[in-house]
Amino acid sequence: MAIYVTVWNEYVNEREYVHIGKIYPKGIHMAIAEGILQHEPFAVRTALIDEPEHGLTNEILDRTDVLIWWSHMVNDKVQDEIVERVYERVMNGMGLIVLHSGAYSKIFRKLMGTSCSAKGREADDEERLWVVDPSHPIAEGIGPYIHLKEEEMYGEYFDIPTPDELIFVSWYTGGEVMRSGCTFRRGLGKIFYFAPGHEEHPTYHHPDILKVIANAVKWAATPHGNKPVYGNVESREKSGKGA
Ligand code: ZN
Repeated sequence: MAIYVTVWNEYVNEREYVHIGKIYPKGIHMAIAEGILQHEPFAVRTALIDEPEHGLTNEILDRTDVLIWWSHMVNDKVQDEIVERVYERVMNGMGLIVLHSGAYSKIFRKLMGTSCSAKGREADDEERLWVVDPSHPIAEGIGPYIHLKEEEMYGEYFDIPTPDELIFVSWYTGGEVMRSGCTFRRGLGKIFYFAPGHEEHPTYHHPDILKVIANAVKWAATPHGNKPVYGNVESREKSGKGA
C-alpha cells in the first residue's frame, strides 16, 4: 500500500532571492518530493504556507501518513490553529519529519517542549554526518558518513529533549558537533529531526540526504498499535477487585 506523504514548505527564500531560486527553481518542497520519489514509490503531494489553511486542511491530513516540514522565515506566522491540528495528528499516529530550520517551528517546539535552539554560522562549513546507529532503518544504504561540501553550521548545544534514538552526529570544519539526526515518539506519532538543508546550498539534491529522508518516511509510517483508552475502567477478570 502506498505511503501518503505531504511535503510542506514556506516557499519564501526560493522566490525572493535569485541565487536561492537557481538552486531550487521549483522550491525546496519540489526538490524533496521529486528526490524521495527516486527512492520509493510514495504518493507525494506538496503544501505551502500561502495556501488555504496553510495547505494543511483536514482533507489533506486525512490522506497524509507522513508530513515533511521545512520552514525558516515565517516560523512564527504559522497559525496556532493549524499547529494544534498537526499536533493532534502526530499524537494520533501521523509521522513527522522536521528539517533544518524547522527546528524553530511552533510545531516542533510544541512537540519537544524545549526551545530547540542551536548554535549557527553561515560560513560554508564542510559537514560530515557520521552514522552512529548503523542498524537503524533510517541509515539503510548510507555509508559510514555523509559528506556535504558546504552547509550552514548548526551546532551544540541543541536544546532538545534527549532523543529516543540518535542516528547522525555531525562534525563541521569550525570544530562544532551536532546531534543532527534524532528520533522522538510522541503519542502514537514518530518524529525524525534532520539538521542539514540550508536554502543556500544544494543539500536536497544530494542523493544520500534524499535517501535518509525517504528512509525516515518509511520508518515514520510504520504501523502502530491501537489508540489507548484512558481513564477509569472495570476489571477484566471476575476475580479482580473491580468485579
Ligand atoms: Zn539555514
